[in-house]
Amino acid sequence: MLLSEPPPSQGDLHFRIFGFPVRVHPMFWLVTGIMGFQSGEEGGTPPGELLSWVAVVFVSILIHELGHAVLQRRYGGHPWITLYGLGGLASCDDCDRSPRSQIIISLAGPVAGFVLAGAVVLLMGLGGHPIAFEWGAHAQGALTLTDPKGFGLFRLWVYWESLASSWANEVVLDALWINVMWGAINLLPIYPLDGGRVAREVFTLQHPRRGIVLSLQISAIVAVAMALVGAVAWQSLFTALMFGYLAYSNYQTLQAYRENRW
Ligand SMILES: [Zn+2]
Repeated sequence: MLLSEPPPSQGDLHFRIFGFPVRVHPMFWLVTGIMGFQSGEEGGTPPGELLSWVAVVFVSILIHELGHAVLQRRYGGHPWITLYGLGGLASCDDCDRSPRSQIIISLAGPVAGFVLAGAVVLLMGLGGHPIAFEWGAHAQGALTLTDPKGFGLFRLWVYWESLASSWANEVVLDALWINVMWGAINLLPIYPLDGGRVAREVFTLQHPRRGIVLSLQISAIVAVAMALVGAVAWQSLFTALMFGYLAYSNYQTLQAYRENRW
């Protein structure tokens, strides 16, 4: 993910990880903090929980971008990572641009997040706190636990017997939720999300002339649908605005293509 890099700012944090330069724009902390605060109980999220939410988002998005960056380096590039208000970006101006490498690079981000979620599930199991999954209207198995913790995602339920520390429960919940949601959202065929990049490459391989227009049309339609889901089903202003903006920018690009190229 997403759009273009923000200009350098005085509040930027710089560091290197595995040799990749990383820049964190101050808007990253602000937007992540606001999202964590909004998702909390009435009266806002307690400061400790908010801090661990920000830390888990930071690590998760960094891992997602590292997934892209490792593959970009594998394809001959010198990538750098930016975390900003709308997530992260792994940029590379000297990578192999062939469709095959671009598709693999795009998929590597979501895959890295799913692997991280899988590692959390594995560690919990090894530590004697297995995480259970259930599909349906209610999590029936959770009724057998004395103090279940977890969450529902559409009809998928994820739960475990509560850990002794409520902070640890929060961290596990945030880590699973963010990595699964972020990976799934990024796989939607909306440009410039990872799934949208994959769709663009696949469509242009199939139809060299119409491919980009076709992928932009699908991109705009799915983005409108997601903005509606965000506004109505999830009641999330952030989701509605983000997908509304993506729908608009895809529509604009589509118009430009139509006017200039055919
Ligand atoms: Zn990505």
